[in-house]
Amino acid sequence: MELFELTKSLMSIPSTSGEEEAVGFFLRDHLESLGWTVELQPVSANQNNVIAYLNDTPRVWLSTHMDTVPPYIAPTEDDEKIYGRGSCDAKGIIATQITAAEQLRKEGIEDIGLMYTVEEERSSTGAKAANLHPFAAKCEYMINGEPTDNDLAIGSKGTFRLNIKTKGKAAHSAYPDEGESAIEKLLDILDDIRHTKFPDDEFFGETTVNIGTIEGGAALNVIPPTAEAGLAIRLTTKKQPIEDALRSIVRDRGEIEILSFSEPVRMLDVDGFNKKVVRFTTDIPHMPNWGKPLLLGPGSILVAHTKDEFVFKRDLETSVSLYQDLVRGLIQSSLEID
Ligand SMILES: [Zn+2]
Repeated sequence: MELFELTKSLMSIPSTSGEEEAVGFFLRDHLESLGWTVELQPVSANQNNVIAYLNDTPRVWLSTHMDTVPPYIAPTEDDEKIYGRGSCDAKGIIATQITAAEQLRKEGIEDIGLMYTVEEERSSTGAKAANLHPFAAKCEYMINGEPTDNDLAIGSKGTFRLNIKTKGKAAHSAYPDEGESAIEKLLDILDDIRHTKFPDDEFFGETTVNIGTIEGGAALNVIPPTAEAGLAIRLTTKKQPIEDALRSIVRDRGEIEILSFSEPVRMLDVDGFNKKVVRFTTDIPHMPNWGKPLLLGPGSILVAHTKDEFVFKRDLETSVSLYQDLVRGLIQSSLEID
């Protein structure tokens, strides 16, 4: 199937996180029809990673995720672009990787694998399961695909997601001395966080904090007994010093509930590509067993997850040749690796 047709076929099968089964079956059938051996690796009741290979010694793997964020947006196109959910994140990438792998086969390169995970957009349970797959030990290089504008991402920031919860004492709003406001405590903590300069890193850049959610209180005439804020921090250092800093800000005024985190990761740096550090997280930190990681893909992260998601058709085509160059260079050990 031709590149754009394959992209649109994948996009026409909705696969919001948790609902990847149908697109996984499509990929299995498609890859088997091309002659790949395909395994469905169970992750949960209706979620399977797709793992495809040509022989027993796949050394270089191309991978990305099958799930998308909601809501589903069916594919449309014009001469320049394909629009819709998954166009750049990441079904266009799946299509370019399969197309690149098929071209490499024609050159006689068969020590390659393809891996497509579930659940990347939420908890990376697909990647965590994949990390335990026996093929991981044989993998030397894992080229992960995410929208990097076809630049080689040599680092990705980590993420640290947490809630801050405060407690007060409910009372009639006309008698504030009888109560204690959980919302005022929370606002004080958040104000302190907003005025804190967290450590940055020369390579990864600036640590940024988003106060993404806030809720609390019971009614306008009640002093609020509880309040809570959700934060997402883009890590450029290890998580621990940031957590320590937060604990010393919050002190006994509230409680920190850690939801998830992934540390910043450095990827392989090879000559001959445009390079950058990206601010988003990928499956890579959850797959340390899969050799040295690389990260490259068509499309822009700035339109991923939006209602206007699209990918340029010429960027899909360019990434097919970039993936081929990378795989060929890694297999033949001809790349200058910094
Ligand atoms: Zn993605």
